[in-house]
Order: sequence, then C-alpha cells, then structure tokens
Amino acid sequence: MTASAFDLSGRVAIVTGGNGGIGLGMARGLAAAGATIVIAARNADKSNAAVAELTKSGAAARFIATDVTDENALKSLTDATLKEFGRIDILVANAGTTVRKPPQVISAAEWHIVIDTNLTSTLLAAQCVYPAMKAAGHGKIITIGSMMSLFGASYSPAYAASKGGVVQLTRSLACAWAQDNIQANCILPGWIDTEMTQGARQQVEGLHERVLKRTPANRWGETRDFAGIAVFLASNASDFVTGAAIPVDGGYSVMA
Ligand code: NDP
Repeated sequence: MTASAFDLSGRVAIVTGGNGGIGLGMARGLAAAGATIVIAARNADKSNAAVAELTKSGAAARFIATDVTDENALKSLTDATLKEFGRIDILVANAGTTVRKPPQVISAAEWHIVIDTNLTSTLLAAQCVYPAMKAAGHGKIITIGSMMSLFGASYSPAYAASKGGVVQLTRSLACAWAQDNIQANCILPGWIDTEMTQGARQQVEGLHERVLKRTPANRWGETRDFAGIAVFLASNASDFVTGAAIPVDGGYSVMA
C-alpha cells in the first residue's frame, strides 16, 4: 500500500450540499487529493464562493444548481456532470435538513421535507449515478447519517428516522452493487460546528455544554475533520470496505 491508493487525480465527485459545513469539509479533502468537484446545492452565492475557494486552491470545481428533493434536478445534475466531465466516480450524498419538533406536534408536511431531503434524495441520487459507475466498472458512494442513526431524538423524530434509514439504505446499496465494484459507506458525524448546529445551539439552551460533556474528545467536531474520511472512502484504499457506518464523533457514540 502506498499513498497513491488515496490519490483521486482524474476522478470526478458530486457533493450534494457541498457549499458549506460538512459537505465543503469533504469537498476540500477530495479536491486536495486531486478530484474534480461538482457542488450540487440551491444557494448560488454560497456555492459560487465554495467553487472560487476550491479553484483558488488549484482544484477543478463547478456549481450545478440542484434541489435534491427534485428527482428531475438530480437527473439533470448527473447528465450535466457526464456531459462536461465524462464520468462520475464519487457521489457524496450529504445534503440534509432538520425540523426540531417533538413527535406529538410535527406535521406531515414537515416530516416529508426532512425524509425527502435526507433519505429519499440519497436513493434518487444513487440511482442517477449508478449507470455511469456500473459502466465504468467502479464507483464510490458516501452517505451521511448522524448520531441519530444510532440513538433516538425526542426533539427530531423525522431527522432520526431519516438518518436511521440512510444507514439501512447504504447497506442495501452496498449489498446490491458490490458485484459492480461500487462501494457504499455511511459517515456518522457527531456534533459538528456548522450552520445547522449553530441554529440548534440558539434554540436549545445548554446544548453547547451538554455536547462538550458527552463527547470524550471534549470539543465540537470541525468541518476539516471530514476531509480524511471522505478521501479514504472515495479512494481505492477502501475498495474492500462497503456497507459500513463509520462514526466521526470524537467518541460520542462509545461514551457510556
Ligand atoms: P449545513 O446546514 O451547513 O449544510 C447543509 C447543506 O445541505 C447545505 O449545503 C445546503 O445547501 C444543503 N441542502 C439542504 N437542503 C437541500 C436541498 N433540498 N437541495 C440541495 N441541497 C440542500 O449542515 P451540515 O454541514 O451540518 O450538514 C451536512 C450533513 O451532515 C447533513 O446531512 C446533516 O444532516 C449531517 N449531519 C450534521 C451534523 C452536525 O452536527 N452538523 C451531525 C450529523 C449529521 P443549500 O441550502 O444551498 O441548498
């Protein structure tokens, strides 16, 4: 094994929600390893800024406006990526959202927004990239779960259901597509300092202190903590790793 097993030169990666937070943290890692990055998200200003940053660092990067809850938009995303770059080697299905409401009050509409954004979009994006990956004889799919893939969340039932589902979906993709040399693995972030959790910290009193106390590493995760795991799971170094759900959580999930 040499460092070249982690080399992503010539590979093309789609990163949904890659314009900020954990997605951009992974995109930075993939770009540094040599991959071309396609950022798929809705906010054009944030996405163009992310593309500018990646390009400045020497990577090839491109923004394709995409709402992951729209199946046609996902098809257009993969069509446009194939047209421009001729290949899709890596899909990072990272886009996500949450609605913080307990099960007795969350509405069906709110439930569907979270399930569609976090879970259904992961299946649909995987379906869109599958033909190109199968034809190429290799592919890497990285999905994003959560500590709520493992634990219940009294304040976020739709989010927990979606993230539990993402793990089982990933295992199913892994089983179905291993014969095509496509690996699918799920990253389970702990509490990471991003826009999503900054909102939670404002809404939930004492959250910051509770996260520090509950996390053995005694800190919030940072977006740069996701660069290495993304490169590993996107590269040949992980060719015999599939269907795994890997915590990146400072020990949160193993703390009694
Ligand atoms: P952010 O809020 O910073 O990022 C969310 C990203 O998802 C944005 O880039 C946003 O882009 C994109 N997104 C949301 N909805 C859509 C949509 N309908 N179509 C396309 N893109 C969309 O959050 P994080 O970086 O924290 O979250 C990234 C992932 O990590 C999510 O799946 C989240 O559930 C997961 N996660 C986060 C944890 C944390 O502690 N931060 C813990 C566990 C999991 P735009 O608005 O431009 O569309």
